[in-house]
Amino acid sequence: VLQAMGKVPRHEFVPDQFRPRAYQDSPLPIGFGQTISQPYIVAFMTEQLQPKPADRVLEIGTGSGYQAAVLSELVSQVYSVEIIPELGRRAAADFSRLGYTNIQVRLGDGYGGWPEAAPFDAIIVTCAPENVPQPLIAQLKEGGRMLIPIGSGSNQQLVLATKQHGELERRALLPVRFVPMTRSQRR
Ligand code: SAH
Repeated sequence: VLQAMGKVPRHEFVPDQFRPRAYQDSPLPIGFGQTISQPYIVAFMTEQLQPKPADRVLEIGTGSGYQAAVLSELVSQVYSVEIIPELGRRAAADFSRLGYTNIQVRLGDGYGGWPEAAPFDAIIVTCAPENVPQPLIAQLKEGGRMLIPIGSGSNQQLVLATKQHGELERRALLPVRFVPMTRSQRR
């Protein structure tokens, strides 16, 4: 994980005016009221996911694309869903510009996951719903791991969930503050 963190150029994933602060351990604004996560949290979540080279991983909340880029150094495929089209398109353009060829971006509401690419070895959610979305449980492989912030406002817990016999075994790891998971209006 540390090697991957050392390899990914975080300054390429933040707006120009914040580049001088790209290597500080803090979240930064990326536009549209969203943020690139704090590097410590990206590293912590990546480590807890226990990524393996052959894994196919689903991310909900592409944002800047930074977390997806870090993961892409450690697994075979990253599938990432972003609800704000401008952010998803910008991240996809950044991935091709920087040569990340094993990340696919889909624009839309990640609550429903990415059924066509399921099942996944691991799922990482970087926006906070109030409960674990049922479709994500269904799309996780037996024995697979999910990292997900659960809660609302400033009252969120980062949960590590492992799928055992079709159900999630959950463990709260850390209090966190992610942007809320928003839902698509076209439903
Ligand atoms: N992993 C990102 C973190 C971005 S912040 C990074 O490394 O920069 C969380 C992102 O989740 C935001 O871009 C927000 O638009 C997105 N998001 C919120 N609700 C969503 C939903 N229902 N589906 C997909 N993305 C969502």
